[in-house]
Formats: sequence, C-alpha cells, structure tokens
Amino acid sequence: MNRTLALVIAFSSTCLFTGYAQRRVLDAQQLLRDVKVLSADSLEGRLSGSQGNRMAQDYITSRFQEIGLKPYQNNLRHTFRLEGRGITVEEAVNLIGYIPGKSDKAIVITAHYDHVGVRKGEIYNGADDNASGVAALLAAAAHFKKHKPYHTLVFVALDGEELGLQGANAFLENPPVPLPNILLNLNMDMLSINQKGELYASGSYHYPALIPYLEQVAARPQAKLLLGHDRPEQGENDWTRQSDHYQFHKRNIPFIYFGVEDHPHYHKPSDDYVNIHTTFYPDAAALVIDFLSILDKKRPVTLQNTK
Ligand SMILES: [Zn+2]
Repeated sequence: MNRTLALVIAFSSTCLFTGYAQRRVLDAQQLLRDVKVLSADSLEGRLSGSQGNRMAQDYITSRFQEIGLKPYQNNLRHTFRLEGRGITVEEAVNLIGYIPGKSDKAIVITAHYDHVGVRKGEIYNGADDNASGVAALLAAAAHFKKHKPYHTLVFVALDGEELGLQGANAFLENPPVPLPNILLNLNMDMLSINQKGELYASGSYHYPALIPYLEQVAARPQAKLLLGHDRPEQGENDWTRQSDHYQFHKRNIPFIYFGVEDHPHYHKPSDDYVNIHTTFYPDAAALVIDFLSILDKKRPVTLQNTK
C-alpha cells in the first residue's frame, strides 16, 4: 500500500474515532475516567456528610491540584454548616479553585458533586447527576489552564445541592471574590444522557444578552445546543429554580445552566456509569467549553440587562 495513503487513512480514522472537535478542547478518556471514579459503588452515592462524599472530595481535590488550580486562602476546601431536608452536616465542603485572568471580573463555573446516597439498601451512584457535570468542570479547568483566559475563572464543585442548593448558598454568603465582580454563573448539572443528542442552555430568557454568545456555539456530530426551559409559564419544565444557579439568579447575578432533559435514570439507582452516552457526553462537554471560550474573548462582557 502507498505509504502516504496509509498515513491519511490512519489520521482520518483517529479523527472519526475520537471526534475531531472534542479532541481539540478536552481529553474524552480523562472525562469518562473522572465520571467512572466519582460514580463508583465505593462512593455510596456521595450523600453530603457521608464517607463516600468525603472520598469524592478527596478525588476532586487531587484533580484540582493536578490541573494546577489556585486555592483561595491557601485552601481548596471551604467548609460550611448545612441544614436541609431533615439532615444536618456540621462540615459540608465546597471545593474552590481558580485560574487568574488579566481581569478581576470573574466567571464562576459550578457543578455539584453530592448526590442522594443509599436508599433501601440500593446505591444511587448519580453518574449523570452529577458526576458528569463535575468531570466537565475538570475538563474546562484543564483546557483554560493551557489556554489562559482573560477573565478570572473560578471553579466550584458544590456540596449539598440535593439538600436544597445549600453549597451554592454557602458560596455566595461567603464568596472568595466580591459579588459585583461575578459576571456570570455557568452551572452544569446532568450533561451525559440524551437519546436525541440535545443539550439545553437555560437562562437566556432572564438574561437575553447571553443569546448572541450561545448562538455562536457550533453543533458537534453528537450534540447540539438548544435554548429554553427557563420561562415561568413552563411550570415544572422551567428549570430556573432547579439547580445551584438559582442561588445566583436570586442575587441578580446572571446565570446560564447547561443540562439534558429528564431521562428514565434520573434519581434512580440505574444512574450508573454504564448508562452514560459515551459519544454524546464528550461532545456536550466540549460545547460548554466552547461557549466559555467565546464569552471569555468578548470584553467587556455586559450581561446584567435582566428581563
Ligand atoms: Zn443534580
């Protein structure tokens, strides 16, 4: 066989196998490995205050250090007292690391790492909810560590979401940067399971200044971005209050939330690593990183013109 031709074939099959676009902004194998570790049975569903939750903290902390995120006050761990849904946790933990930008205006990227634990002897592993968001947050951190951002990027793995958005509340009650410096909260919660290859960005109804940036995000072979699930008249299908971004919205800080529509594994013991869509998910995470890059290049960013 012609040697040049063989090289061309080898190159194109690599592209087909890993997906050209996602290969540029993230390491899909690392992304999947992070989900697999965080949703293992040994972490027992990562309920706030549990041993499994602490194991998740240790893993995320080691990944933050490996990636090279900087701590605030010399500590990646920020503890708070959590009370919610009949559970008190004396030492709940948000993990916070950042990449300094040229500007002190900050984009706060969040994903909750806690889940609902063990019920009636069954472990709820929460692979999609929300190991998938945490792993995508780690992928975004790794990307911007290599491609220096203009804005300061604060990465927060939140505790206590399942007990009433408590970690996000604690973060905002005791923020590492002044609240007026926060341009946007980008929240990820459930990114990895959708039969139609659809990822939603929710929040542009409240903050229409986000729309031009979202419209620039190119579709991937396995994932495309839709806007919606943010209008009051949608009732339960309005996701404005359904994850940590609501704590930011309540304080008039713009947010954009990335997630998939509900699926049969949502809050079920079957939300396991084996049910993650291993082609859709890396493309979905790459979309979010693309959006961040597009937004970061714009300066100054003004998103405050709320509805
Ligand atoms: Zn969740």
